[in-house]
Amino acid sequence: MDAQKPLIIAGPCSVESREQLRTVVSALVPMPQVSMVRCGVWKPRTRPGGFEGLGEKALGWIADLSQELKNEGCRSLPFACEVATPQHVEQVMRYGLKAVWIGARTTANPFMVQELTESLRGTDLTVLVKNAPSPDVRLWMGAIERCWQVGLTDVMAVHRGFDVLKNGGYRNHPLWEVPIELRRILPEVPIVTDPSHIAGRRELLQEVSQWALDLGFDGLMVEVHPCPEEALTDCRQQITPSGLQELLDRLVLRQTDSNVADRELRLLRSQIDRIDDQLLRLLASRLEVSGEIARVKAQGNLAVFQPKRWDSLLQQRLAMASELQLASEFVKEVFEKIHAESVRVQQERLSGGEVSADSLDRTDKIT
Ligand code: PEP
Ligand code: MN
Repeated sequence: MDAQKPLIIAGPCSVESREQLRTVVSALVPMPQVSMVRCGVWKPRTRPGGFEGLGEKALGWIADLSQELKNEGCRSLPFACEVATPQHVEQVMRYGLKAVWIGARTTANPFMVQELTESLRGTDLTVLVKNAPSPDVRLWMGAIERCWQVGLTDVMAVHRGFDVLKNGGYRNHPLWEVPIELRRILPEVPIVTDPSHIAGRRELLQEVSQWALDLGFDGLMVEVHPCPEEALTDCRQQITPSGLQELLDRLVLRQTDSNVADRELRLLRSQIDRIDDQLLRLLASRLEVSGEIARVKAQGNLAVFQPKRWDSLLQQRLAMASELQLASEFVKEVFEKIHAESVRVQQERLSGGEVSADSLDRTDKIT
């Protein structure tokens, strides 16, 4: 039985001074779980005028510190910073960093990703690809694929949460279904969760980190600062090195390979597979009936969308959901989706020539 061994990436949101960098990295080096240092050098600020990072000066401090640690016989840790332009990549290479990350705002723009990955061609950097702010798994995938296209082989995904209207108390809503979908589509790509940017505040870090591990993700990227309250960026979410140690000590690592658990899991999963099979077949039959309904409605010159029928259907389903102790919000969402698809199928039938254009014209309300 192997326990999970999450990859831990830790370090300050931004490099602020030689002293700050040295203090935090010296505290991370003796922590065996930590295997990479993150430190922002160019900071993407939503509005102008904030601290935008120290750029090349900070890269010089990183290179000096790596050398000093080496001279002191310390364990060497790779450093990673965000790159957003080919010029950033050129400078990172010049100062000998081993890893970079593509930030959320860059992932959102395929032109920028294309240009950036072209500049990474031929390097052997580890590349961490953060998800775009919108919950679009394809943008995330696309950036990873563009890395592969230029021959990069050490590519990981970083889940930093999503900008959504209702953020549920997070800075960036985790929407776990998105990284789960990425795992399904690209199972070979390690996924590192960034609880700092998801949570946005220290108090939530432990919980988000534990969820990430419970879902089987591969690591954590945590912002660590010697004096978080005084940090120039993201001061509410950074923790001290001892705070990080505490967080790591409190994490419950799951078993990745247990015979008993495996057997039981296989059994339960096969039940889920069977139920999903039935669900899909039932959905297909339901939509077939919708198609028939479209024909009847067209013959009777009735609108596809019948608000009264929809309202009473939903009320009946919600009443039944409550009897079955299913969450009403969940059931409502499911039926809204089913109903929308039913309307779409009916409209398709109408416009697909199976009924006359004339009857379509007289259909007074199609939503
Ligand atoms: C960061 O990691 O410091 C950062 C700016 O993150 P993101 O691109 O996820 O907002
Ligand atoms: Mn940050």
